Amino acid sequence: MKTKYKLLFIVTVMLLALGAATTINVGLNFRDYSIKSAQEKAQMIAAIVKDGLTAHMVNGIMDKRQYFLDQISINNDPVKALWIVRSPNVIRQYGEGFANESIRDAIDKEVLQSGKKVLKIHETTDKILLRVTIPYNAEITPSGAKCLSCHNVKVGDTLGAISINFDITDMRSAGLLSIFKIITLTLLFIIVVLYLINYYITPYIRLFTNMQIGIKKAYSGDFTHEFETSVAGDGKEIAREMNELFKKMQSTFGDIKHNLSTFIPQACVTSADPLHEAKTIISELSDIYKFKKTIELDANKNIIYTRIADVLEKKYHIQSFSLYEVSTLTNHRQLVYNTNTPSICKASVDLDANLCRTYRTRSDVISTDFVNLCQECRAEDINYICIPFSINEEYSLIISILTDDALKVSEINGHIPSIKNYLEAAKPVLESRILMEKLRDTSLRDGMTGLYNRRFLEEFIDKVMKQAQRKNETYSILMLDVDFFKMVNDTYGHDVGDRVIVALGKILKESIRESDLAIRYGGEEFLIMLHNADDAGTMQVAKKIHKAFAELTFEISATESIHKTISIGIAKFPKDGDTIWKCIKYADTALYVAKTTGRNKIVEYTQDMSNNDDLR
Ligand code: GH3
Ligand code: MG
Ligand code: MG
Repeated sequence: MKTKYKLLFIVTVMLLALGAATTINVGLNFRDYSIKSAQEKAQMIAAIVKDGLTAHMVNGIMDKRQYFLDQISINNDPVKALWIVRSPNVIRQYGEGFANESIRDAIDKEVLQSGKKVLKIHETTDKILLRVTIPYNAEITPSGAKCLSCHNVKVGDTLGAISINFDITDMRSAGLLSIFKIITLTLLFIIVVLYLINYYITPYIRLFTNMQIGIKKAYSGDFTHEFETSVAGDGKEIAREMNELFKKMQSTFGDIKHNLSTFIPQACVTSADPLHEAKTIISELSDIYKFKKTIELDANKNIIYTRIADVLEKKYHIQSFSLYEVSTLTNHRQLVYNTNTPSICKASVDLDANLCRTYRTRSDVISTDFVNLCQECRAEDINYICIPFSINEEYSLIISILTDDALKVSEINGHIPSIKNYLEAAKPVLESRILMEKLRDTSLRDGMTGLYNRRFLEEFIDKVMKQAQRKNETYSILMLDVDFFKMVNDTYGHDVGDRVIVALGKILKESIRESDLAIRYGGEEFLIMLHNADDAGTMQVAKKIHKAFAELTFEISATESIHKTISIGIAKFPKDGDTIWKCIKYADTALYVAKTTGRNKIVEYTQDMSNNDDLR
């Protein structure tokens, strides 16, 4: 509407300017015209007076001339005074004349001297007087009458002058009246023009304002505006087309948003602006797509965990967090990544994952939701967010974030849907890597005992050794073999032999720690690698296994059962040999010594065994 008032203001100013210009013009013209017409009248009267006086002279009635002059004055209304004066030439020839014919003022004098007409205006507030003094100069008239015939002068000499005073006050009044009429008409014209502009322009201005509102709403993503107008023709057509366009936009953006949301399960953004929302979702999709493409080429789940950690650190600027993998089967929780931040949980949670609130409830645990929400936290006054994520039936991932303050908690809370989108994207890849690892694990394990097989040993022993060398770790290597096993097979059959092997495998599993390795090395030969065990500890484990196995009773039939023993050879890495392979060989040597010196015993490798040619 501002535009309308602006337009009306400009038109008013222009019309007023036009009216003022016309008024000034008319005023000035009127004045010029009044003066000019009075001047012409004076010229005419002067000519009449001249002819009249000539006639008086010719007829010899010059003494009656005053009557003639008075009649002219009386019969011409605007003439307020009329007099003639004689020049010195005429006075010299004919005398002074009447008393009223002598020079009255400076103008008379000037005209008689110069022989030129003088015109003067005397204007007061209530009157305008125009004084015209015209000289009579000696000349030969077109009719042939010669002034020189009566007057004793030369052509061009001034004979006298006639002065006439005109009252042109009426003309001024008429002029003012005209100006008043012009102003009135101009004002009327302005009112009519403004009314017409208002009448015809207002609907267009309304349409314009309505469109402005619609476009403003569209800018913020709202395409629900209805364009309406009372303007017929083009205006109506524009409003209709805009309505169609907006409807199309609204439904298109709605569809885009709906379709995009099917790609992203968690609403990472909610905005009234579908354009902004679509843009954010597309950018999120693009990031997640890149993330997924990257992790698809990652070799194992641990690398994928570090990718998730990278997203948390780089994209969401989360500084302190830990990633835990929980095994549903063992109910154990294992740290798979952390940002050098101490765990916020009590140590007991690692052994019993069900103590972890977020794992147990399968829901986000946010410290600001309730005082001391997770009671397995090390401290009460910390701010944290724990997010659970199920990878498959066997594994879950827990993200445990430690923050500085409640504000940061709420900021990260806002990112949770988006973080979950990344986890969802990682889920199938993680599942596939876990499956692959399982398959690989199967090929590296012995089906009968579930222990690692020799292939595993061959594949990983170098890595294990390098790591041990780097970290100054030790491995005690125990080589075990069942004594007189062939006899079991031969006497009771392979099934009984298998039972013996399985039973020994079970004892081995139960006797070692998680960081130790138990491998079925050959038929009934086993290898144990005890991680960082000292001499006493090594011997303790060897004895425990030796004793446990010897105590086993294998039922052959209802009446018959057997007992078996094992022999054990021990070597230590890196004390006995600088490679694990060497130490395995030395353990085998020690085993051989045990076998050859009576069996059913534990023998530790000594240097001299290698010096013995029979044992090499
Ligand atoms: P020693 O006291 O010297 O060890 O005598 P031994 O009879 O145990 O001799 P050896 O260790 O050489 O015996 C290995 C036997 O184990 C040979 C093979 O038939 C048997 N064997 C290997 N693998 C299996 C298996 O998977 N099941 C069964 N039942 N027997 C196996
Ligand atoms: Mg044997
Ligand atoms: Mg053997």
